[in-house]
Formats: sequence, structure tokens, C-alpha cells
Amino acid sequence: MTEHTKTDGLPAMDLPPNADIGLGKAPPRNDRMSVAKVECNACPVLCQISDGRTGACDRYANRDGVLVRVDPVVLLRRELAADEPALVPFLRAGGEEARDGDAPAWRGDLLHADGVFVTGVGSSTTYPDYKPAPFIVGSQARGVDMVTVVTEGIFSYCSFKVKIDTDRFLGAEQANVRYRGEVVGHVTTAEYGSQMLSLGGVHHLTGGSKKEGRMTVELMQKLGNKQPVECTIDGGANLVVQAGRAPIVNGVEEQRMRVGCGSAAVGIFARQFAGVADEVVVVDDHITGVLTEHQAGRCLDMPPSGIHMHGRKSTPGRYFQVANPGDGWGGTDIADPLSIIESWEEGVARPGLRLLMTSTTGEHAQWYVLDEALRPVEQPMPEEVRRIVERIGENCEPSLCSVLFLGGAGGSLRAGVTENPVLLTRAIKRALVNVTCGGAPAYVWPGGGITVMADVMRMPDNSFGTVPTPAIVAPIEFSMRLSDYAALGGHVDHVFPLAQALARGAWQDDGAPLALRWQRADDANPWPLGQPPMLG
Ligand code: SF4
Repeated sequence: MTEHTKTDGLPAMDLPPNADIGLGKAPPRNDRMSVAKVECNACPVLCQISDGRTGACDRYANRDGVLVRVDPVVLLRRELAADEPALVPFLRAGGEEARDGDAPAWRGDLLHADGVFVTGVGSSTTYPDYKPAPFIVGSQARGVDMVTVVTEGIFSYCSFKVKIDTDRFLGAEQANVRYRGEVVGHVTTAEYGSQMLSLGGVHHLTGGSKKEGRMTVELMQKLGNKQPVECTIDGGANLVVQAGRAPIVNGVEEQRMRVGCGSAAVGIFARQFAGVADEVVVVDDHITGVLTEHQAGRCLDMPPSGIHMHGRKSTPGRYFQVANPGDGWGGTDIADPLSIIESWEEGVARPGLRLLMTSTTGEHAQWYVLDEALRPVEQPMPEEVRRIVERIGENCEPSLCSVLFLGGAGGSLRAGVTENPVLLTRAIKRALVNVTCGGAPAYVWPGGGITVMADVMRMPDNSFGTVPTPAIVAPIEFSMRLSDYAALGGHVDHVFPLAQALARGAWQDDGAPLALRWQRADDANPWPLGQPPMLG
């Protein structure tokens, strides 16, 4: 058996009592392992890492015989002066000593200021599941003793829900989404003005071929880290998705999210149209609106125009299925809007009738006047009509991709918090625990377990990693009152003060980060401490 290298020379710290009892490294599985290697047990892969090298996930390395977490742990500050050092080494083996005269503001006056939050990003993990979380930090918020339990979770059960603001047809519901040829998700139900995708998930990570799993985890890491990914939808569009950016559909960057369906657009702008047009058709894949038939037109005493539409009439002035879905007018497959008009009723329609056809975003719009044979003839659009069309466009919000991480925090993650994991679940359901992902508020789903959802745009950059099992690594933090933590059977003897976290980092010696990185807290996020949890 080979002894593992132990770190030494650590400064005297108020380490939690019993910190190292039974929490060290296991004997290596391979008796012939070179003494120059260390075994990483931060995930089931158990990489044997030579000095100066990193393991398979690039997150852990062997530095002079010590297993270290390569990335700094990210700490949020409410206030951060521009001239303060962003990267600060810990006083521990492998970390650099702070230089004389550095007088680190980061260890001093903050301690009772309720202005520092340790995130799970770079914090290291609790695998193989019996260990307390790497950071269980005690601090005060508004005079109340708080605890934040911080870890990097390894999530096999997790996915990204992607909302793509567009009317364009991306693919049929349930169609497969592919990344580099492999199926990594599917199209799910459309929402108002948006197409929805479900990407990743345990089925694709572990239920298919190795390549499918590899591609799935690669796509998920990129999506979570706000990078662009290109995917294709079977029978549908080619798509570039990036959190916080406009989607690119079949090579064209989407601009606008529709103001409403065709029926809504008719109603919203009806009073502005009355008097300047005799008929308005708002073309939409979902509901195409016809103003004079619509209740809005009738309320405004607009006489019928005699128009007869294709499609299935739902209710007055509202038509379903006027065309097939596509990337033409209003999310249909049409390029010529007149193709959805079946006929004009003689005796009702009249020569000279003024017709506006527009899409729900105003991106497509044409103006017609009926000739003697009741045929619409395209004419230059009058200025007052163009202004209304422009207003439709003005009321459309910018088209974006929203990427939400959805993960199930299993028993192993909970064991890092408490010896009796179900008590954590119960405390969360009783709204005693604020769950955050990299400091971003997380929605906790109702029902059993701890299933959380967070907007990746609210999380620090590069929050997500992977392990080759394959699974996603994501930060998660549980903040609560110290008294509630004790009541749920928390690892109270591993609570250490924020001062220690700032100076030394994680409690464990094996696989811990060597430095912290300051980051200013996102103003859009509620401060994680002293906040009610964001529950469903
Ligand atoms: S893949 Fe990464 S976390 Fe897993 S054992 Fe290897 S170095 Fe450690």
C-alpha cells in the first residue's frame, strides 16, 4: 500500500474538531500506483494524477504531491473596489503567502459586514458522499448567526430548459435536437412567443452510447457557461443558442419577440387602425386575426370587409392553421400573405377597400387596395399606417435565448449538509433554507427531493464543469440560520467562521482550492443571506 502525500506546514487555524477523523483519503485501489501520483477521489473516476498534471476533468491537479482544486473558489462581494486584487491566494500548502504590506482588506473589515458570500464555484465537492461540504461557513446577516453550506454538486440528473424567443418554426413538438450528430434533447411545448427545448438530462447522459453522453455533457457545459452551441432539429431548423443572446435560426439572427398572437395584435392596435384601414389581417402561425370580424373591430363599428380566410375559424376574427409553420410571415411558411385569403364576398367587399397585412412583429407588412375586380393590388403604405406597423415592432421585446439549469440534488449532496439528509429537504420545503446556485436565486420545485432551477445568466461565468462519468458539475449553496442548521442535524462541528474561509479556504487538505476570486455580486440578484428562499 502506498501512503498518500499529506499536506503539511499549514498555519495554525481553528480547524473544526475531528476534522480529519475518517475524512482523509482512501488507500489507493491500485497497489502498483506510482508514489509520484496522487489519486483524486472527487468523483467516481478516481484519476491517478502525476505531479504537475491534471485529472481527466481538468479541475483537479497534482501540485508537488498535493491534490488541489485548480480553479479559485468564487466569492461574491456586495461592494468591490476596482483596485482590490481579484485573485487572492489562501494561506495553505500550495498557496502563496500573502506578501508583506499587502494588508489584505479582504480579510479584515468585512467579517461582520454581511457583504461576503462564498459560492460553490470552484469550492470542490463532497464525493464520495460521506464528507461534510468543503465550506460550511458561519457569518452574520443583520445580526443573526447564519450558516452557508457550499459545494460543487455532481449532477447526473440535470438538464437545461431553453426558451427561444421566436415565432419561427424550429421543429415539431417532441422532435429530437442534435449536437454534433448526437441526440441531446427534444423540442417541448411552445410558450407564448417562444419555442422551448429540453436539452441534456440523464437519459442522454447515461442512457445511450458513450458518444451521446460525451456530446450531451459538452453541450450542457457550453450552454451553462454562456457559450454558443449549434444544434439541429430533426425535420426543423439549424440553430445557434447562447444564453442572453438572440437565437440564430437557419443562419439569420432573430430580432423581435412578437407582441402577441394575431388576435391580440388586432385587439391591441384596433383603435389606431380604425379610420386608416378598412381591414387588417395579422398573420400568425398560431391565431391569425381579422380586424373587422374580430370583437375589437365590431366594438369599433367597423363594417365587414367581405374577406374570407383560409384556415379553421375558431371564434369571430380568429383563425387557426391558415398555413403551415415555417420561417416566413408570422412563423408560417408563407412568403405571399395573399395566399391565406380565400376570396372576397361580392356585395360586401368593394373596390378601393384598404387592406393592411402584417405579421405579429411588424417585420413583414404590406398595403393593398382592392381594384374593380376585387383583387388586392399592392400600393405604397401610407405614412400613418406605417407608423402603426412600426409601433407593433416597437412593442416587441428583443429576442433572446434563456437558459435555465434544472438539477436534482440527490442524497449524496444532502449528506454534505447533514447527517440526516431528509431533514434538509424538509427544511427547504418549510422555507427555512435559501438555495442558490453560484449565488443566483434558485427556484425549488414542489414535491419530493430538492429539484432546483436557476437562470445561468445570473450565475458567475464558467460556473459549470464536467466529470467523465459523464455528469455536470454545478455550484449549490444552502443558507440558513445557525439554529436551523443545528436542528436539521447539520455538521455543526465543521462550521468555520468566514474569517477562516477567507484565510485558509476549505476545511479539507485534499483537493481544496488554493485561492479565492472576488467577484462583485450581480445587482439583479437578491443578496443570498438573510433573504427568504425563492420557492415555487
Ligand atoms: S475526473 Fe476530475 S474529479 Fe473525477 S477523479 Fe478525475 S480529476 Fe478527480
